[in-house]
Amino acid sequence: MFELVFPDDCRICGQPLKGVSRVPVCAACLAAPGPLEAEHFCVSCRTPFMNEFPLDGEGRCALCRSGMQGFDAAYTFGAYEGTLRELIHLFKYKRIRTLAKPLAGHLLSAYPREQRFDAVVPMPLHWFRRWQRGFNQAGLLARLVSRRCGIPVVQAVRRTRATPPQAGLTSARRRTNVRGAFSPARAVSLRGMRLLLVDDVMTTGATASACARALKDAGASYVAVLTLARADRRFGAYKEQPA
Ligand SMILES: [Zn+2]
Ligand SMILES: [Zn+2]
Repeated sequence: MFELVFPDDCRICGQPLKGVSRVPVCAACLAAPGPLEAEHFCVSCRTPFMNEFPLDGEGRCALCRSGMQGFDAAYTFGAYEGTLRELIHLFKYKRIRTLAKPLAGHLLSAYPREQRFDAVVPMPLHWFRRWQRGFNQAGLLARLVSRRCGIPVVQAVRRTRATPPQAGLTSARRRTNVRGAFSPARAVSLRGMRLLLVDDVMTTGATASACARALKDAGASYVAVLTLARADRRFGAYKEQPA
């Protein structure tokens, strides 16, 4: 038990940890992830592209142009690659909750400061997955964003069914797969509210899109998505991961 709480070596680079910390990752690895860089990206969902060809005259991608995205804007810190990906894995799948704070620091650097929000909404997990993991990673991040920005957290949506794994599905199939997976929480009025939906990773945006749609159906006037990392197709095919 002691070793788990105070490990000797950084779980990412293997270097011995100096001093006692509840985070089993060294300072260098925690600071390693940098913001996502792209010369070309969609102005509304911020999907990075190799060149300008997928973008229209206003700088929007095909999905946004077609109105397929349920959210109004998306902001993200980094690419779901390298050290950031490893940190998210340790946080989520190895259940190292103490990583929430350093990861929220990165998340906050992508927070759209020019915008005003009425509430922060964590991407819900299906209750079974939450029970398995013991926490909702998006919930921990949302709470820290809320605390820093002085905006309340509202559990505005529920995941009504555990969506089958998205792995191996095309973008269109992912959209069908998550349709109707969210429903507004009862007794929460979202009328006219501007919401910030927080999640750890965005892959195709299908889940965020479906969730944003449910929030709008419940009366929200504006939904922006803030994620820590996004799958970047420029690095090759999407690597899927469970919620
Ligand atoms: Zn390290
Ligand atoms: Zn777009």
